[in-house]
Amino acid sequence: MSDVCIFCKIVDRDIPAKLEYEDDQVIVFHDIAPKAPVHLLIIPKVHIPTMMDVKDDQFELIAHMHKVSQILFNKLELAGMRLINNCKEKGGQEVFHVHYHLFGWKAED
Ligand code: AMP
Ligand code: ZN
Repeated sequence: MSDVCIFCKIVDRDIPAKLEYEDDQVIVFHDIAPKAPVHLLIIPKVHIPTMMDVKDDQFELIAHMHKVSQILFNKLELAGMRLINNCKEKGGQEVFHVHYHLFGWKAED
């Protein structure tokens, strides 16, 4: 946990977010500036700055984030989905708490 990290603050409920899913390892909430009909952020509860900081024993957590994308696909009755990880400043990362963007489209989109 990092005191200055905005996503840790969302995990701790110190700042609000529109939650879509939560379990013991991750939370999922709606991006504040959506870039697709459905735009969610899948984040681990533990603070990991970037995908390059993931330790060998944390890849089960990353795999779990993919499992959660399946759960959300079904829950929101999506027809198509794109998962994106922006890694480091050069890769377009702005919030340094590792996350996947889930862009989703329904059949009618
Ligand atoms: P990235 O550029 O991959 O680090 O993406 C960070 C994302 O976090 C951006 O799409 C922002 O719109 C989103 N974001 C930043 N602050 C918040 C917030 N308080 N609640 C929801 N989404 C946020
Ligand atoms: Zn954090």
